[in-house]
Amino acid sequence: MSKKRDYYEILGVPKTASEADIKKAYRKLAMQHHPDRNPNDKKAEALFKEATEAYEILGDKDKRTRYDQYGHEAMHAGSDYHSYGNSNDIFSHFGDIFGNIFNQHAGRQHKRTGPVPAQGHDLAYEVTISLKESFVGCKKEIKVYHYISCVACTHTGSKPGKSATSCTSCHGTGATTVQQGFFAFSQPCRACSGNGFIITDPCATCRGQSRVQQYETLTVTIPAGIYRSADLRVVHKGDAGTFGGPAGHLYVKINITADTLFQRRDNDLVCQLTLTYAQLVLGAQLEVESIDGTRHTVKIPKGCPVGHEIMVIGKGFHKLQGTGAGNLIFIAQCAIPKKLSTEAKEALLAYDKAVEHESSGITGFFKKFLG
Ligand SMILES: [Zn+2]
Ligand SMILES: [Zn+2]
Repeated sequence: MSKKRDYYEILGVPKTASEADIKKAYRKLAMQHHPDRNPNDKKAEALFKEATEAYEILGDKDKRTRYDQYGHEAMHAGSDYHSYGNSNDIFSHFGDIFGNIFNQHAGRQHKRTGPVPAQGHDLAYEVTISLKESFVGCKKEIKVYHYISCVACTHTGSKPGKSATSCTSCHGTGATTVQQGFFAFSQPCRACSGNGFIITDPCATCRGQSRVQQYETLTVTIPAGIYRSADLRVVHKGDAGTFGGPAGHLYVKINITADTLFQRRDNDLVCQLTLTYAQLVLGAQLEVESIDGTRHTVKIPKGCPVGHEIMVIGKGFHKLQGTGAGNLIFIAQCAIPKKLSTEAKEALLAYDKAVEHESSGITGFFKKFLG
């Protein structure tokens, strides 16, 4: 046997290389020298085998330790050492790497005697509701186009009294092996489309699919307090599974249209409350209406600044998580009239004159602009 090259040298990594570095280096070499990419290139094939052998040792913690201590000799002495003459061995050992690179069916294959129930897909829908509906909760009808289990054949896919048979071409594995030069490829069985079974007498309703696609009207209950972009899960209302497998879920995304008066802020329901200057200065007691029509009495404090928040505790959005609710908040704003009657204007000027000596902030320079 000719002198073997150092495994680290083969992979082009230092002796201190991490597991990830070794895997990365091997992946790169394997991609480069893979016989699939270098047909009839003996040198590439040899390099590929060499790199694979090196990775088999350095990619295994125990084997790497032994190799680090004793070199190639230790590896030959070990009973688990073997050179890969058969490409299937490589795939069974490095299925994770090759599975990603070459997308092959390298994993273990299960024999099937008949249809295997498989879960249906999840589906996504969108529903748009108003802010008020999100506040009080609501029910919405949605029309969902999805798979439902075939009733005619009770999801067997076969005519009554008949059943599926195991595929004889692939012996129920769903895959056949094709030899292509150095490599053996596994590919879906043509006879059974990779299913491993054949439905000889398909149900007339679902044509052997075990499920049918149709519209279904569902009523979705949207809880009070639902927030924008929430995904409501409607259990098992996605696509039905095949051959009796569980249905996927239906996810309903909630869109909420803006309201002209109210906004949501966390769990608080917020509304701007426009007051007159007199109300802000003198204080007031008002009856206000919330988004759901309920009425509340709020007290505006004397000398209320613009932007002041008046809170009605516990009358905001229902908390979806935990208990209780946010608050209903009114933000004080000042009504600035654009037009005034002569009478109101005179009263305002009289007021201005009356408070002239009281206002400490508006003096000197700024006063000139106020006349
Ligand atoms: Zn088959
Ligand atoms: Zn059917």
